[in-house]
Amino acid sequence: MPSSKSSLIKLDRLTTPKIEKLFSDSMTLKQNFNKHQLSSGVYHSGYKGTAALLFFEPSTRTRFSFEAACSRAGYHPLILDGGVGTSLEKGETIEDTIYNIRAMRPMFFIVRCNDLVNLNEIDASISEPVLNAGWGRQGHPTQALLDTLTMFEKWNTLKGKNILFVGDIKHSRVVSSHLELAPILGYKIGFSAPPELLPSVKPQCEVFTKLDDGLNWADAVIALRVQKERHDSENIFLLEDYREAYGLNLKRIQALKQDGLIMHPGPINYGIELESEILSDPRSCILKQVENGVFLREAIIRGLFN
Ligand code: ASP
Repeated sequence: MPSSKSSLIKLDRLTTPKIEKLFSDSMTLKQNFNKHQLSSGVYHSGYKGTAALLFFEPSTRTRFSFEAACSRAGYHPLILDGGVGTSLEKGETIEDTIYNIRAMRPMFFIVRCNDLVNLNEIDASISEPVLNAGWGRQGHPTQALLDTLTMFEKWNTLKGKNILFVGDIKHSRVVSSHLELAPILGYKIGFSAPPELLPSVKPQCEVFTKLDDGLNWADAVIALRVQKERHDSENIFLLEDYREAYGLNLKRIQALKQDGLIMHPGPINYGIELESEILSDPRSCILKQVENGVFLREAIIRGLFN
């Protein structure tokens, strides 16, 4: 199939200039949005076609964010949300669902699915671009890009920065995408988690047994949700012990630099990986990640057919 189409399944083929252009386009969209929304309300695009948003796994932020981004970029989003009420319930496969929706001629696909689906194969079998909106444990490229966009907005570069992940690293597709992005943008990754939540094959990165050591090292800390739905039933540990050793609260977060950033991709298990009081810390930019995510996705969508 043509390799000229701009699918986004993984991040490892992106280059630094390409990502920096994406960041600058996202920031321009943000400035324009703020200007026009607040003054004259003249923020709109002409209709360019439809986009198929196929979410075979649950989502709130990513789905709404892509939906908003499609609308702002001029594409009407056609949404499949979780499969309830569709022929998936009658046993139709995800692949068949995609080929049938394709016959309705959307301009591109945005897909969230589990590891059993081969998104690379689907991408190779159709001519429309495919954007990965969270694929099992394999990756969540736009989440890693919106995280780094939010850091870039503050620091103007990611080079030499230390990003600490705390929590369920083993099951996190967000981490998988950051491991692809870090060498391109020049940041370092650190992990802090109980052994049960660390991957068995450790990538090249710092591992901090004590969270405080990791927080001292970090420029930004990304707390991750304990993904109970992906744990084996025998792999049970006490959430109270987890909270005690790895939960972020106002006291513990004092170890992070004054100009550091506190992030979370959501959804948050309050009282496990993070106390709600953290949101009042001026270094917390969890909702800014959500806000920036729409501009980042809009910039990607606008770039699809250029
Ligand atoms: N929202 C993120 C994801 O889809 C993180 C999470 O679910 O915990 O991977």
